[in-house]
Amino acid sequence: MNKLGIVKPELPKLAVWKFASCDGCQLSLLDCEDELLPLAEIIQISNFPEASKVDIQGPYDISLVEGSVSTKRDLERIQMVRKQSKVLITIGACATAGGIQALRNFSKLDAFMEAVYASPEYIDSLETSTAISHHVHVDYELQGCPINKHQLIEVLTSFIRGKRPAVSSSSVCNECKRKGNICVTVAYGIPCLGPVTHAGCGALCPSYRRGCYGCYGPKETANPLALTRWWEKELNTETQEIKHLLRNFNCAKEPFKEASEHYEQ
Ligand code: SF4
Ligand code: SF4
Repeated sequence: MNKLGIVKPELPKLAVWKFASCDGCQLSLLDCEDELLPLAEIIQISNFPEASKVDIQGPYDISLVEGSVSTKRDLERIQMVRKQSKVLITIGACATAGGIQALRNFSKLDAFMEAVYASPEYIDSLETSTAISHHVHVDYELQGCPINKHQLIEVLTSFIRGKRPAVSSSSVCNECKRKGNICVTVAYGIPCLGPVTHAGCGALCPSYRRGCYGCYGPKETANPLALTRWWEKELNTETQEIKHLLRNFNCAKEPFKEASEHYEQ
């Protein structure tokens, strides 16, 4: 209550949680320089260790979760986060798909640990890296590696206002068309995952004459196998190249996972 006796309405509480990830998606929130102050007027940032020492106890109205479930402790923490959160939103390829660390799901964990760590005996990881939605109910998934900050603001403000976020579920191809890009597949014969990849990056790679490698994950109703079979037939793309394109940040996300497994047979 202020000096005039007016009770300030309590703002919804926001918490930001990190699991197995590189922190890039949390940085996208910090990168919202112009939008952060107006956002702070409509939401109370209650727990965001990367940005502040403030630690206000839950429950929280909205939790943003970055990162995948990769350790036994993650398994326990995600249950705690879910219990503390009215709305749980996962952000980025690690949280929505398992991330690049989910490459181990297709192989033996020991082989990766021995290749990466000098003393692998000190590492205690799960055999797989999995998306948050494999373990708890998720209210909304925002894809991208890293996420698009404008889409993040749209999602946050929509949930605060109780409306559905207006995030386009179209493909990178649509963004190419809007930018007036020349199609790298049609013009230069470069394999590009744009037709099956979720919009959000503004067609960054094709704008620089590179094919898309799917870092925003599959779009709705994507059929990557139909696309890659066309590459094989029309572009003579090698199986190994196709597998590498599909086995990326979203390698564990259907239907990219299913399509990449086709090229293992
Ligand atoms: S360059 Fe890629 S994303 Fe752009 S229109 Fe062609 S296939 Fe689609
Ligand atoms: S890989 Fe695809 S989705 Fe990712 S930035 Fe490049 S064009 Fe965009």
